[in-house]
Amino acid sequence: MPPSLSLWQNLCLYPVQAVSISWYHRGCARSQSVDDLTEPVAQTPPLPARGAPLHLRILQTTDVHGHLLPFDYYTNQSDRPWGLARLATLIRRARSEVGAANCLLFDNGDFLQGTPLTDLTAQPDHGWTEAHPVIAAMNDIGYDAGTLGNHEFNFGLDWLMETLAQARFPLTCCNVLTRRGATPTEDTSLLPPYLLLDRQLEDTDGQTQRLRIGVLGLVPPQILTWDHARLSDRVEVRDMVESARAWVPVLHAAGADLVVVLAHSGLDPGPDRPMMENAARALARLPGIDALLAGHSHKSFPSTDHQGIAGADATRGTLHDTPCVMAGFRGDHLGQLDLTMSHDGTKWRVTGHQSRLLPASSAQPCPALCTLLDIAHHHTLTLTAREIGQSLSPLHSYLSLVRDDPILHLVNDAQHRALAGILANGPLAQLPLLSACAPFKTGGRGGPLHFTDIPEGPLRLRHIADLYGFPNTLCGLLVTGAELRDWLERAAICFNRLAPGLPDQPLLDPAVPGHDFDVIDGLSYAIDLSQPARYDISGALIHPEAQRIRDLRHAGKPVRDDAHFIVATNSYRAHGGGPFAPLAANGLIYSGTRPVRDILADHVAALGQIGAAARPTWRFAPLPGTTVTVETGPGLRAHPADIAALNAIDLGLTDTGFLRLSLPLPDALPTLAHPVAAAYMDP
Ligand code: MN
Ligand code: MG
Repeated sequence: MPPSLSLWQNLCLYPVQAVSISWYHRGCARSQSVDDLTEPVAQTPPLPARGAPLHLRILQTTDVHGHLLPFDYYTNQSDRPWGLARLATLIRRARSEVGAANCLLFDNGDFLQGTPLTDLTAQPDHGWTEAHPVIAAMNDIGYDAGTLGNHEFNFGLDWLMETLAQARFPLTCCNVLTRRGATPTEDTSLLPPYLLLDRQLEDTDGQTQRLRIGVLGLVPPQILTWDHARLSDRVEVRDMVESARAWVPVLHAAGADLVVVLAHSGLDPGPDRPMMENAARALARLPGIDALLAGHSHKSFPSTDHQGIAGADATRGTLHDTPCVMAGFRGDHLGQLDLTMSHDGTKWRVTGHQSRLLPASSAQPCPALCTLLDIAHHHTLTLTAREIGQSLSPLHSYLSLVRDDPILHLVNDAQHRALAGILANGPLAQLPLLSACAPFKTGGRGGPLHFTDIPEGPLRLRHIADLYGFPNTLCGLLVTGAELRDWLERAAICFNRLAPGLPDQPLLDPAVPGHDFDVIDGLSYAIDLSQPARYDISGALIHPEAQRIRDLRHAGKPVRDDAHFIVATNSYRAHGGGPFAPLAANGLIYSGTRPVRDILADHVAALGQIGAAARPTWRFAPLPGTTVTVETGPGLRAHPADIAALNAIDLGLTDTGFLRLSLPLPDALPTLAHPVAAAYMDP
């Protein structure tokens, strides 16, 4: 018996007899249609196995977002518990355990965007002339294939295709199209719609077996919304489930012994819908998929992240009985899916599997990869150290969801100034100009350290990148007063409904990310949390009678529904998505290609010095005797005056390291700089 067999037996939680997972391709001749594949397992007599089984290890990285070294470019802290360099050590270990031939490594997308290394160094005009550092690292590690995430499209198609040409591994994606056909298999896709990887694997008798591994890649069709200005006249998209349903039988017909789907898509707990962003559950139910690698939502599988979601079985590592893995984000885990395959005399099939996640924190960074990245790393340090201006007080995001936030005012000021310059002397210059933005780092999925916390003193480019961490571009929208009110109602869904007069009710709905909390600068308004959320997270109107936004005013006067305004915002928001309406469809008056981060850097440089005074924009409506709890970063303790200003009480740290605060909602109206109408509480 080869020594590797006992290892594999330990790895396989599900011995051949106990497996109930593989009905979906049992008895599937390659020429059969999908309908022929759904024969239930009980009606298929077991076929005698021929030859020895073999073991195939599939490794996954996903949503690495440019985190190569265990380094935080915003704070200049090293030894962070993430990064591809740590995963490289785990990958080498995983390969040596099973033999490199029986090990495949895939990436699920969102690899080219996310840190100053990718968003500054690797972009044009930043003095970097070498290969893209992420591609260089992936080439060095040696991937078998990858697919694209939505963020790959953030820098435009031409840049993307030039960058992907540096990869020494194939990339695939079947649902981004340069020409849409009558059916998915008649589409012309931007990248190859699928891959067939012919591999020589060693079976448990030490014999070489030739297997053909079919790989399909999928990206959320929302890329056309999120990167509308860069993609709208260049590519089309198709629904991920529709595409996979059409292509998987093609892979089988082309001789695939195993079909692996790389879906840059997470698990939506709700019912299936067309053009779903997080379609992993629907994909897992399609026949003919042997392994599903998921991503995009930055969650982990198997883990407790998806407890209670139908079909997600973290114990078995299956999603609707399909073996599945999803390796978190920023290289915090390596996904490892071990498959046992047996030949039944006709074809190979999966007869056992084990799905697990290996934490990056358990490995040291690979020294060779660190050496390879050294020049790009130091280039990035030089770029991000450039002093842009001075901040007269600390800038932190610990309370961005609780109070008027100086960071949002700074970003809104920058957007306002830029759009005002663009519209100056034009016909729209007479309309009131507002600006909307949301906080990006508010803990949540990112953990208790996922906040911005910049000390007073020099503001460097790394701080600007921390204040605005996405390559979004500036847009201008023409909207009505009614649309403004509706926009704010959608932003206000991040809060739970509160029972007036009760203590310590959780303020934030954990299902809604902090980056949905748009604050529209230039207005003033109150948020009434005795009301239910008007919309759900997908933008469906769930409480038509509810109105959380009260006393909406511009320049001290109530906002009329038919009044017109210009709003500076970013490309993602202008085109809708999540709870937000696609206001750009009718109201887009400007769409630029300049990143808001650069606009912010210009603004700070022009000002020279930044204060931290936020203009009064929003507040919670009075709910006498009501207190709420909020989980924020423990770093807030270094800003005791901010805690005191809210009359908040420090309740200590949670199990996961968040700082829990109790704070009162106002008993009465705060005093504002502008007049408050008597009709304040009217809907
Ligand atoms: Mn991502
Ligand atoms: Mg993504």
